[in-house]
Amino acid sequence: MKTVDHFNFENKKALIRVDFNVPLDDELQVTDTTRIEAAKPTILKILEDGGAAILMSHLGRPKAQEDEFSMKHICRKVSEIIGVEVIYVANCVGDEATQAAQNLEMGQILLLENLRYHNEEKQGDEAFAKALSKLGDIYVNDAFGTAHRAHASTTIIAQFFPENKCFGKLLSKEIESLDRVLNNSEKPVLAILGGAKVSSKITVIENILDKVDEMIIGGGMAYTFIKAQGGNVGNSICEDDKMELALAILKAAEEKNVLIHLPVDVLAADDFSETANTKVVAIDNIPEGWQGLDAGPASQTVFDAVAQRAKTILWNGPLGVFEMTPFAGATIALGNSIAQATKNGAFSLVGGGDSVAAVKQFGFDSKVSYVSTGGGAMLEMLEGKTLPGIAAILE
Ligand code: AMP
Repeated sequence: MKTVDHFNFENKKALIRVDFNVPLDDELQVTDTTRIEAAKPTILKILEDGGAAILMSHLGRPKAQEDEFSMKHICRKVSEIIGVEVIYVANCVGDEATQAAQNLEMGQILLLENLRYHNEEKQGDEAFAKALSKLGDIYVNDAFGTAHRAHASTTIIAQFFPENKCFGKLLSKEIESLDRVLNNSEKPVLAILGGAKVSSKITVIENILDKVDEMIIGGGMAYTFIKAQGGNVGNSICEDDKMELALAILKAAEEKNVLIHLPVDVLAADDFSETANTKVVAIDNIPEGWQGLDAGPASQTVFDAVAQRAKTILWNGPLGVFEMTPFAGATIALGNSIAQATKNGAFSLVGGGDSVAAVKQFGFDSKVSYVSTGGGAMLEMLEGKTLPGIAAILE
């Protein structure tokens, strides 16, 4: 796997695909700088070698060239975080961009305008990718969040750098961390899958059954499994058309000697609301009119024991509706369990959308081994897919 550490960037202009798709508030100020900070090590390595960095990214989902999606709004934040004045150019291709790239001196950073101002980016247009490629000497992909997209700047462009392409430090760390969980893992391996629906995680579950020793299935997904086994789930979220699939998964797990743990009790509510009445009931005996919105105390004890005996832990998806305080308990307890297991030597990876939001919200991000930066990309890797952005560098 070729990374920036395999190159000397002295007198080279690195064209880096970063993921600066950061949230902005109404005043167009950056509200979360995680993604900018994540790209810093790669940028610094290039500058310290004596090279220059040309940064390209998308921001939001512009339909036309709307000002609110302009990279100029984040330029100052990038300068602040990297500690070097960043030059902004109002296009990513064309004369203006070409001039700016040519004028760039070693040690400097250039930030190109939003790639998605051009429809060709998402279309994976070859001519557009070629135009971008002219701006730099070495192509670096450090954007895990878009590695599952075959866009011009993430994938198609790589062919124009047959020898001079590599992964940035962030993307290579993502690949290594996931590999450490899925392929080169220390046993026992535990996967914890939560979230709302079985249907969105089914391919993940099927793929990782071959990789893990134990699996916790929690969150809204659990009720489909419980109902399929004959339990009463009341008004809990449930996908009736996935019940057969749930039974097939349980059977496959048994055949593969994978221990599956479902919650045994739940915190049920009489309404999907923060102010609902609540009570703890057995998961297979939820009264009509009530719905399970979090795993209960007995489940938390079981899950803690499972986490403490694991040497490798993968966590994707919350165990309850953690956005509402009364139903965040099991997700917080699990975060504590994983933090403890990590402290005792386990390798833990948290990834995929909502679980990342949860670990950050509850302050576990520094207590697990690795927090992935890519939601969709991470899920596709867990599904066993080869991501086009990764394949393009490896080819
Ligand atoms: P996902 O994006 O698939 O990881 O799903 C995350 C969402 O699942 C979160 O917004 C949670 O609120 C939701 N969720 C977790 N447990 C439940 C549950 N028991 N009932 C309804 N939604 C849930």
